[in-house]
Amino acid sequence: MNVTLISTYDLGHQPFGLASLAAWLGDEGAGVTCNDTAVSPLAEDAVRASELICIHLAMHTATRLALELLPRIRALNGSAHICFFGLYGPPNADILGDFAPCSIIGGEFEADITSLYRRLADADNRKIEAVMVSMDKLAHRTPDRSGLPGLDQYASLKIGPETRIVGYTEASRGCKHLCRHCPVVPIYGGRFRTVPVDVVLADIRSQVAKGAQHISFGDPDFFNGPGHAERVIDAFHAEFPEITFDATIKIEHLLSQQHRLAWLRDSGCLFVTTAVEATDDHILEILDKGHSRADFILAAKLAREAGLVLSPTFVPFTPWTSLTGYRDLLQLVLELGLTEQVAPIQLVIRLLVPAGSLLLDHPDLHWASFAPEKLSHPWHNPDPAVDTLQRTLAAEVESAEAQGLSRAEIFARLWRLTHEALGDAAAPINLDASGPEIPQMSEPWYCCAEPTELQRARL
Ligand code: SF4
Repeated sequence: MNVTLISTYDLGHQPFGLASLAAWLGDEGAGVTCNDTAVSPLAEDAVRASELICIHLAMHTATRLALELLPRIRALNGSAHICFFGLYGPPNADILGDFAPCSIIGGEFEADITSLYRRLADADNRKIEAVMVSMDKLAHRTPDRSGLPGLDQYASLKIGPETRIVGYTEASRGCKHLCRHCPVVPIYGGRFRTVPVDVVLADIRSQVAKGAQHISFGDPDFFNGPGHAERVIDAFHAEFPEITFDATIKIEHLLSQQHRLAWLRDSGCLFVTTAVEATDDHILEILDKGHSRADFILAAKLAREAGLVLSPTFVPFTPWTSLTGYRDLLQLVLELGLTEQVAPIQLVIRLLVPAGSLLLDHPDLHWASFAPEKLSHPWHNPDPAVDTLQRTLAAEVESAEAQGLSRAEIFARLWRLTHEALGDAAAPINLDASGPEIPQMSEPWYCCAEPTELQRARL
């Protein structure tokens, strides 16, 4: 039976979800076509010829793009069973149900989709459950990346004049934390699952053989299981001492595992992405982030002392953000010397409240009804000037990046515009970019944006 696996966007990486599923279905004898529409056109012939079409909904932007693509897929093939899988599947079941016959699978998806494939292949047993979330521990298989575009088609890492080809893998999935704004939580509910070290290593090996010079670990939090992370990195670094890596680690874990920071650096970690989200303790408490402003400041200091580059991410615009609070966030980024380490897009992101968000259960918060076209619950800041500032700054970042301005130059513009919004003169700032080169991905990490015109045009 023919199967087409589609990913619309995976943060600029070669899609791990497709590669993993391709290995499972390939072992079943399926005729698998992998189609990453972020870098290739829709594989129309494969879609027409498939009885099962699996679409990975790993995040908000990917889901928005998939919804734009689905009418075309259905026009090409009205009878294929469509399986939506990934974090954004189950919470959006009502909308996705319009594309029946379909099923929706969240959590540890590979075994359930394999079982779905078997039932579809068995004419006497085509009973399909509509929505499933599985937390079963899987016997992971080495992802099969042979049907995907080359790594040079994806985001690369820049360090000064040098560009490195980036591979991507996952040593764990899910998360043991319950941050209220996080899309992982409605599916994994505070649980995480590890991928065996030998499978992670085999996946890295296959990507290094295809040119990867740097590996991004996409685990929601690399230190959910620090012992597992240590075994993975020790094995990886022993085999590939010249290959660098990055990972995402929350502030709380950077503090509790501070004895591992120098080890990360010595093992080839070029930078750690950390979701700071806010610098106001009240907002951090609403989000249940598990850290305070003081914790962020301490983590930045410990990372600097360990020689580890920290790359903070933020959700600076929320219903609780004030103009002065936003200026304070910029001020703290400046004082901590992090202006070169924060991707400008991170300074203009608006909170996204997707279906199933734990924020909807907060007794003191009231949200507008779900807006299907936005896949989120809309909100406005009680001070309209904050929403206006967000729009102004977002447009500024887009235009400044198109002009090729540096992060320091863009920060200076945001600083000035924020002071103008407050009616204050902006204090002069010294943005000395003469320090060591900060590694930067050519496509910054964020997953909650409106699809861009470029992304739409590729569909
Ligand atoms: S630590 Fe990160 S991945 Fe885990 S629940 Fe919080 S935001 Fe989500």
